[in-house]
Amino acid sequence: MANLKERHPENVPGPWYVDTSCIQCGLCSEYAPASFRESPDGTQNIVHHQPITNNQINAALEVKEGCPVDAIGNDG
Ligand code: SF4
Repeated sequence: MANLKERHPENVPGPWYVDTSCIQCGLCSEYAPASFRESPDGTQNIVHHQPITNNQINAALEVKEGCPVDAIGNDG
């Protein structure tokens, strides 16, 4: 389970976030690019846009499920 206390500082405000356990496997930015991308320093992925549409939310739910280190969270 993602840890809100370890929320990556570069996530945009909102319920969805990536925590600092991300190993940057690339899954979330590949399958949900509307919401996830590489952090500015290029070392981890972050949420750059909160999912809003049904497609974006469904994609976020899928990559949350698929993240190999469970680094994607939603505290909403
Ligand atoms: S799926 Fe998980 S480990 Fe992979 S880049 Fe996204 S947050 Fe990081």
